[in-house]
Amino acid sequence: MTDTNLNPFGGFAIDFGAGSPPADDRATAVPVADDGEPDASQILILGSGPAGLTAAIYAARANLAPIVLGGHQPGGQLTITSEVENYPGFPDGIEGPDLMARFRAQAEHFGARVIDVEVDRVDFSSRPFRAWAEGVEYRGDAVIVATGASALWLGLESEERLRGHGVSACATCDGFFFRGKEIAVVGGGDTAMEEALYLTRFATKVHLLHRRAEFRASRIMEARTERNPQIEIHRNVAIEEVLGDPSITGLRLRDTKTDERSELPVEGLFVAIGYRPNTGPFEGWLEKDEAGYLAVHSETHSRIEGVFVAGDVHDHRYRQAVTAAGDGCRAAIDAERWLQEHAPVEAAAATAG
Ligand code: NAP
Repeated sequence: MTDTNLNPFGGFAIDFGAGSPPADDRATAVPVADDGEPDASQILILGSGPAGLTAAIYAARANLAPIVLGGHQPGGQLTITSEVENYPGFPDGIEGPDLMARFRAQAEHFGARVIDVEVDRVDFSSRPFRAWAEGVEYRGDAVIVATGASALWLGLESEERLRGHGVSACATCDGFFFRGKEIAVVGGGDTAMEEALYLTRFATKVHLLHRRAEFRASRIMEARTERNPQIEIHRNVAIEEVLGDPSITGLRLRDTKTDERSELPVEGLFVAIGYRPNTGPFEGWLEKDEAGYLAVHSETHSRIEGVFVAGDVHDHRYRQAVTAAGDGCRAAIDAERWLQEHAPVEAAAATAG
């Protein structure tokens, strides 16, 4: 990629195609500019949900030529949700994957380079900061960590065994396969309600199973779920075992008040019990709060100068697409200001090591 007109980074070239280094060399490959020098003022953004891509839009418009490493689920959690009704600007709602495709198109339009790889480790000991994904090294003078959170599972052996055989955590991905069937959703938050409602498009009946009597979901979602004649709500039940071989035929339930056991015949189970933050690659580098999310000090700054944090990887209070997007904007502005105050790393230092 030498034609700067075609290259969204201007003079910045990355080529993982024919011009890529041989596999063995890729571990040390860094994106380099046309003149052979690594770009020392880029922002490296880890994650491509609303936080990461909003940060990319802002960083790209500030001429910081961001690289976004998109993660194992490009577009983040919204790509496995259905209708998003509360993202401002879409009065008729919008499908989650469609919304994220628009975020990405906007970031790329301004010159962000989004690469769909998963970061597995980082070295934040000195600038430029370094991150590795699939054996390739990426560097940034500033880093924005926006790796989001991932769906939780119940942790049952039978749940794991039947994943992909009737057990799923993504109604939009798998709902279609349950056309004309009776299925269950477990969870008591907004996600569970949203999944249950969505699945009524396909399933003849959806059993919503919650371990307590009170729901955690917003009132509007709860009311909508209660009103839907295709959804039967079961309160105070826990799933003890997912039954069936080779595919799911039912659930063994336990009443959490009386300990009474029962069986519920269903052909599908959707697990919608919340999320855990994706902090793995940052163990030992970035501080976590008591809930296990990344801590921030003073706006979006992490404890390492030049490393910023945005979105669900640190936010366990709001966890909305719009708050994550706002957070990504703040992190990009903080990073941009921080870069202005700190001289770019010398090219020589960037090529060392
Ligand atoms: P959540 O609000 O944390 O709810 C998780 C639910 O799963 C809780 O009801 C919890 O029960 C239950 N649960 C957790 N672990 C369980 C286990 N091992 N076995 C059985 N049940 C278990 O998670 P969420 O529903 O995914 O929502 C996360 C955030 O995203 C929230 O802020 C939500 O508002 C937001 N969200 C918004 C929308 C929307 O606005 N359209 C859609 C989806 C999500 P307990 O209640 O007993 O703890």
